[in-house]
Amino acid sequence: MLLRITQFGEPILKQKGEPVTVFDDGLKKLAADMLEAMYEADGIGLAAQQIDKAIQLFVMDLQVREREVDFQYTLDGRTPPLDLIMPLAMVNPEVEAFGEEQPYDEGCLSFPGVRGNVIRPSQVRVRYQDLDGQSHTLECDGIFARVILHENDHLQGVLFIERMHPDTLRGQESKLKKLKRASRDFLKRRR
Ligand SMILES: [Zn+2]
Repeated sequence: MLLRITQFGEPILKQKGEPVTVFDDGLKKLAADMLEAMYEADGIGLAAQQIDKAIQLFVMDLQVREREVDFQYTLDGRTPPLDLIMPLAMVNPEVEAFGEEQPYDEGCLSFPGVRGNVIRPSQVRVRYQDLDGQSHTLECDGIFARVILHENDHLQGVLFIERMHPDTLRGQESKLKKLKRASRDFLKRRR
């Protein structure tokens, strides 16, 4: 079943995710459905809040961007080929960010048409569990780190527009208003 992606203005996007405690087939199916919705929408990352569930889970796949952008990574101290670790599902991630702060033009599947520079640290170290509950440590930079920081924010109920410079945000105001109105109508219809 193709999952619907929640849109700016829906309260679930402001909700912090609960830790995942059960690692069963249902969790694997959910991650697979999230990936399907992400690919369908041409995205590279998707958090649980974006499919209407407030839990600590996000998925990502950088394979389409591999040739475009340089980045480095180690997973549990090694660097396996990217196609062996992607797509990647991160459960209960604990993210530490460090390194130089850098701007990058971000978008978000819950904000169609909205883009803008967001400044974030350039490196992350993240401890997370996979879909079987096994713990891992990933260190990375570049767009890999960027996606993890953006998705991890979703898990805390934090949106990328909250990290935009006020001047950048001002340029997106009319689009944001339109999205909010559409969400209000959607929520009314669903009631
Ligand atoms: Zn997003």
